[in-house]
Amino acid sequence: MAVLESRVVAKNSGAAFEVKKGQRLRIAGKSIVDFVAFNLHDLNERFDQARTKTNQVKIFISTGDVLYSKRNNPMLTIVEDTFKEGRHDLQKGMCSRKRLEMVAQGASMRVFAEGIDINPKKAEEIPDHGCWENLSGAVQPWNILPDDVPSPFNIFQCMRIDPETGIMYDTMIRPKDEAHVDFRAEMDCLVAVSACPESGRGQGIRVEIYNE
Ligand SMILES: [Zn+2]
Repeated sequence: MAVLESRVVAKNSGAAFEVKKGQRLRIAGKSIVDFVAFNLHDLNERFDQARTKTNQVKIFISTGDVLYSKRNNPMLTIVEDTFKEGRHDLQKGMCSRKRLEMVAQGASMRVFAEGIDINPKKAEEIPDHGCWENLSGAVQPWNILPDDVPSPFNIFQCMRIDPETGIMYDTMIRPKDEAHVDFRAEMDCLVAVSACPESGRGQGIRVEIYNE
């Protein structure tokens, strides 16, 4: 495989990449990455969490599984996944300044599985932006509006979901060492990533594109 591009995306920032059909895209890191995709030739066609879950009748995806668009077209296939400690998330949206404020003010909730609470409590602890702002900024050069950024595939975000109540608990399960998810593009895609701030715990990530 020849590396066409390798870029570090700093913590709590975003970036976008054009990936051509058949190319391999690697997302590598140790903390949460919010990931979205668009059809490069028709940016109205976007990744869809619900289609991805329904078409494969499951809420967790890994090697061999497909990311679908709302038009039910395969966009990307996961060809390698080295995150063995936990699973990726297809339930949650993305963090944002407003969401973080709502949690801090008690207007919204975020619960943890392990009895810890890393939610910001004071105004000065709330980051002034999160994944929504990062992803919106990354795709802005393609004239995609913030409202048109779909709910993401949350890589390395391991949730524990109570099977009876459906409550989604955040966990602190992350790759112990750097892990990666490799995708094969099934169409020409514009993809965008956000290195989630994770309430101050987020780290930089690496994005690589290979010609197979
Ligand atoms: Zn985030």
